[in-house]
Amino acid sequence: MVDTNRDELGSYFDKIKEPILLYKGVVTCPVCRKKSLELEEHLYEVPYFGRILLSSGKCTNCGYVYKDVRLAETTKPKKIVLRVKGEKELRYLLVKSSYAYLSILEKNYEMIPGPASHGFISTVEGVLHRFMEALEVACKGREEEPGCLGNKKWLERAIDGKEEFTLVICDYEGASKIMGDDVIEEPLDEYCSGKKPEWMYSWS
Ligand SMILES: [Zn+2]
Repeated sequence: MVDTNRDELGSYFDKIKEPILLYKGVVTCPVCRKKSLELEEHLYEVPYFGRILLSSGKCTNCGYVYKDVRLAETTKPKKIVLRVKGEKELRYLLVKSSYAYLSILEKNYEMIPGPASHGFISTVEGVLHRFMEALEVACKGREEEPGCLGNKKWLERAIDGKEEFTLVICDYEGASKIMGDDVIEEPLDEYCSGKKPEWMYSWS
């Protein structure tokens, strides 16, 4: 159900108790707008994070697959900042809810939330692998171009713990978290306001 590498988090997930089914039903699909998304929500008690909600669903009309992870007890909206100096921080676990914005500041790598975004639980290293996958898709057929090559090399070095960088999460709902030392949580600032997608302002 969780979209992550099982080897990376295998022992972590082994510690999780039986989940509780909170909701099972059919809701409106964010992609095709038909009431055909079969959704399940489970409450998990997990080490370090406490209680988290995992949602997963599939639309029987258009095939859209929905996944989200969020803290069950939400906090205030916040900006989460982590300076990644090497291997230690690469192993930190994080929850990024579907509506949170994530970036690697120095490289302008972004995960911009859309109405159909996914949330996930991952290590910091796992986030770098997600950017690598996105890069591979974007650079298909032009791998040797300087932009593609340069970013690939940077990500490879970062995955090896040889690049320092700043990971930022703008958590507009207070449903995300990074677990570890030296994680800074502060109120949302101008940077995060500027990254908040237009569609999110229409929330009631
Ligand atoms: Zn659909």
